[in-house]
Amino acid sequence: MSGGNNNNGVGVPGGLPLSGATPTGSGFGGGGNAGGGGAYPTSPTSFGSPLPLFIPDPSIKGISFDQLLQNRGVKFAHKKATPCPNIETVFDNSHNPNCTLCDDGILFYAQKDIWGVFHSNSLEKNFEYQGIWEIGNAVVTLPTEYPDGAPAEFNTYDQLVITDFQVRMWELKEYRPTANNQQQLRYPVSNIEYMSSAVNNVLVVYEKGVHFNIVNGNIEWIAGQAPHFNVAENKGDVYVCQYYASPVYNIVQHLRELRITQELNLQGQKMPKRLPQQVLVKRDFLRNGSRKE
Ligand SMILES: [Zn+2]
Repeated sequence: MSGGNNNNGVGVPGGLPLSGATPTGSGFGGGGNAGGGGAYPTSPTSFGSPLPLFIPDPSIKGISFDQLLQNRGVKFAHKKATPCPNIETVFDNSHNPNCTLCDDGILFYAQKDIWGVFHSNSLEKNFEYQGIWEIGNAVVTLPTEYPDGAPAEFNTYDQLVITDFQVRMWELKEYRPTANNQQQLRYPVSNIEYMSSAVNNVLVVYEKGVHFNIVNGNIEWIAGQAPHFNVAENKGDVYVCQYYASPVYNIVQHLRELRITQELNLQGQKMPKRLPQQVLVKRDFLRNGSRKE
């Protein structure tokens, strides 16, 4: 015993004796007195395990996970993406820059509704003079199957569109006369709240039904009511549009591509079972690309 009994009664501030008071005489750093190894020290509160000898194995019900997402989630339109085949050769991957079949080299070939839950939304943004680059991301948990029972598989570049809700966006656009009097913004417009241009330093506000209508998500200018276009300079008035559109999210990464557990089926057999999957998404900011008309 390193402490020795002479120190009895010289306590630490809390009042505990430094040594010699514990029944076995052992202690941290006391060294060598515990009886040649084997038993570990007990404490007055030590008692036998309350756990049963056999651990019950309740089976997870994968379907109830999916139901939870369906009952509490938000509806997404899931658009499946594939690289566009409109390329010169497979050796150089040179995609036709004037391709009208796809969106910037990505072809969306199928669309289906699915219910999922958003979480871990980070709020990073890059503020630029002409707008905001959404560099933040979020995680979406999605079931293994579509509501019709078909397996739901997600992959990079797929898109998730919240079709039931719209968010407020804005865009600066130059007026260009077109064949059908329509101009397309980055996202299909569901409603325009405010639109104006500055003509000779005077603010001109455009009203729906008076100056324009919304047709198929585009602005359709009413004949004679459109902003001014200078043919000689090939330049139209710039207008700003505050509008509402469904937010679009791009799938960046699969966090848990195959998430599997065991499930006891009705026949009493353990079967592998897929559980909901998680994907990392980024808010899209280039949906219709930038185009002049
Ligand atoms: Zn293409």
